[in-house]
Amino acid sequence: MAKIGFIGVGNMGGPMVVNLLGAGHEVAAFDMVEDALAKVAEGGATAVGSAAEAASGADVVVTMLPAGEHTRDVYTGAGKVMESAEKGALLIDSSTIDVATARDMHAEAETAGFDFLDAPVSGGVGGAEAGTLTFMCGGSETAFERAKPFLEAMGKNIFLAGGPGNGQAAKMCNNMMLAIQMIAVSEGFKLADAAGLDRQKLYDIASTATSSCWALNTYCPVPGPVPTSPANNDYKAGFTAAMMLKDLKLSQDAAGAFDVSTAFGAKAAEYYQRYCDGGDAGKDFSGIINMIREDG
Ligand code: NAD
Repeated sequence: MAKIGFIGVGNMGGPMVVNLLGAGHEVAAFDMVEDALAKVAEGGATAVGSAAEAASGADVVVTMLPAGEHTRDVYTGAGKVMESAEKGALLIDSSTIDVATARDMHAEAETAGFDFLDAPVSGGVGGAEAGTLTFMCGGSETAFERAKPFLEAMGKNIFLAGGPGNGQAAKMCNNMMLAIQMIAVSEGFKLADAAGLDRQKLYDIASTATSSCWALNTYCPVPGPVPTSPANNDYKAGFTAAMMLKDLKLSQDAAGAFDVSTAFGAKAAEYYQRYCDGGDAGKDFSGIINMIREDG
């Protein structure tokens, strides 16, 4: 069994730690928020006082942080992970961050003598708790094979998407596609209402026809057809509109950096910005249907 340093034990990191403990690993956890840390300590992790302490002596370091700047600081800040971990340790960043920072971290890690993997996830808090996350990894085959047993303790579908940064590339493309699909499904239900087509009928037909997709079949934005979708629970997240906006911004920054146009991705980012600005950042992202309805 391995010694794991886990940094960032919030909504996602907390339950991921629980699953690593469940698989028999020792976990030294650090977070700046004491409550979050206390929660994983109750579950059996050792709470430590800094990122450096979590990394020191660890076979594997896992980070689950809000954004690229946090990842950069935790790995390359003075006295932090890359200066504290044993040479040869495996570093896994599961935060959702920009491709450019992820690629920088790979380069820094290589220079410092570490295997590094960018390994963002999809599946949300429910997936983190159930240990059914999807991991999209970028890095070398060697780092991927080393990481696999640990990722399998926290997830179900584990993919190597390619070289450095390609896990983050897969994540941003996936979520941009999802946002566009959620808006498309919302417009479909809006038009159906106007045309006098019953929502359940539209669902029954479309979910088995060519517009079938996860946004419709699993997260259906109208209450009724899919009883477990957030629409039946006043759009309680789930996956917040704020998180979706964050991911859309990553996709649009990347589209700009790579000089490609993603017109519908840009439009989706505008929609989610407006929805969040309207005070609904904490709602599930499927709640966008309510703004779309109000647009007339
Ligand atoms: P969160 O805010 O609940 O957790 C992040 C934790 O990191 C917080 O507890 C925070 O205190 C801690 N942190 C920040 N800076 C730190 C530092 N320098 N040192 C130590 N700890 C630090 O966020 P979350 O929902 O757990 O999401 C984490 C990552 O997972 C994000 O990148 C997010 O985009 C991604 N993600 C989230 C979901 C979801 O449904 N919540 C789904 C997929 C991916």
